[in-house]
Amino acid sequence: MNESSKLFERALRVTPGGVHSPVRSFAAVGGRPLFIESAHGAQLTDADGARYTDYCMAFGPLILGHGDADVAAAAHDAINNGWSFGTAERWSLELAELITARIPWAEQIRFVNSGTEAVMSALRLARAATGRPLIVKFAGCYHGHSDAMLIEAGSGMAGIPASAGVSTATAAETLILPLNDIAAVTNAFADHGDRIAAVIIEPLPANNGLLPQTDAYLHELARLCRQHAALLIFDEVISGFRCGFGGRAEQLGIEPDLVTWGKIIGGGFPVGAFAGSKSLMQCIAPAGPVYQAGTLSANPVAMRAGLATLEKLTDGLLYDNLNLLSGELRAGLKQIPNVSVTVHDSLFWLHLHPNGAGNIIDVPRAPDQIRPEHAAAYPQFFRGILNAGIYLPPSPYEVGFISAAHSSDNIRDFIAAIKNTHPS
Ligand code: PMP
Repeated sequence: MNESSKLFERALRVTPGGVHSPVRSFAAVGGRPLFIESAHGAQLTDADGARYTDYCMAFGPLILGHGDADVAAAAHDAINNGWSFGTAERWSLELAELITARIPWAEQIRFVNSGTEAVMSALRLARAATGRPLIVKFAGCYHGHSDAMLIEAGSGMAGIPASAGVSTATAAETLILPLNDIAAVTNAFADHGDRIAAVIIEPLPANNGLLPQTDAYLHELARLCRQHAALLIFDEVISGFRCGFGGRAEQLGIEPDLVTWGKIIGGGFPVGAFAGSKSLMQCIAPAGPVYQAGTLSANPVAMRAGLATLEKLTDGLLYDNLNLLSGELRAGLKQIPNVSVTVHDSLFWLHLHPNGAGNIIDVPRAPDQIRPEHAAAYPQFFRGILNAGIYLPPSPYEVGFISAAHSSDNIRDFIAAIKNTHPS
């Protein structure tokens, strides 16, 4: 038994499923998870000394790669000066100023510790600001693990209707609609319009495979929200600062009422945030009556790591280089049968269609458009790629991430590994 397996056996005794977040367990791909000991640039090294080129990148935060020197220096400097004050401090102010200066409709921001917290708080704010009870959510979109959002949620719950433990009363206040279906939204507003507080969507759904929505769909969604005085919440926990600094909102030219961020905003440390117009954000305590708090919120180590990361992202060239790499991946995969790829900026999702329609690159836009053979073929594919020294997300429904630490050589090796492994 190798060292990772021994550690996993020990972990199973003290932790449910041996992991502290479900998708890490390899339940979706079979076998035991790798225990990672260190990571540098685009490389992971496991407890047995094996090295892998990483395309999971901690599920998205590490856009600069592992152990970026500037982020490390900022975090070390923060630690040398005490790492939690429970007081006001300057770093969260600087991060807030950096973001609000570049994303003008995000006039005010509140930092929290995770994407889950950001969404949970934004929903509370939406209900308070509108005085309405219902939230519209889309099947396959994941918004963290607060009760109201654990219904048809994607990510580790892809294909599972709802988590156990969510009360019927809570579930009844979340309306689930299909993605890519504007008529469903129109009908929901016709039926419940004056009771809908907010519509929450990942403007680039990336938790049930990558399911890009058309610009026209998202603009119409925004229009319907305005028409019915419901708030539009863009959950940009994945797409924020990845699809350009201003995320999908900026790409689309849509100003959501509220945005939720996570992942990149903390440079790989635990940070989330929600932001919006000053008038909405003034509802949050202590300025207003919507309570929201956190002992470790705006922790100085995480704030400085986030600042160091976002400062680098103000250079648009970084995004151009990432897009060159994802373009190389897309071009390379065109030649390979039975594997398609959906790419958006530096996000990608491989979908497998053994015995299928060759190398046609189709773009599923809703979970039911994903070929059923994909999930069945993924475990074997994942293991083949892993054996070639490449770490993909250990789930058929999680997306892959390219970082600034990846190179064209990495992408070339990745394409070669896919060619050798592709399902037939
Ligand atoms: N929203 C989206 C779109 C996400 O992808 C995630 C996490 N994958 C979350 C919210 C929850 O974030 P966290 O895991 O930091 O709680």
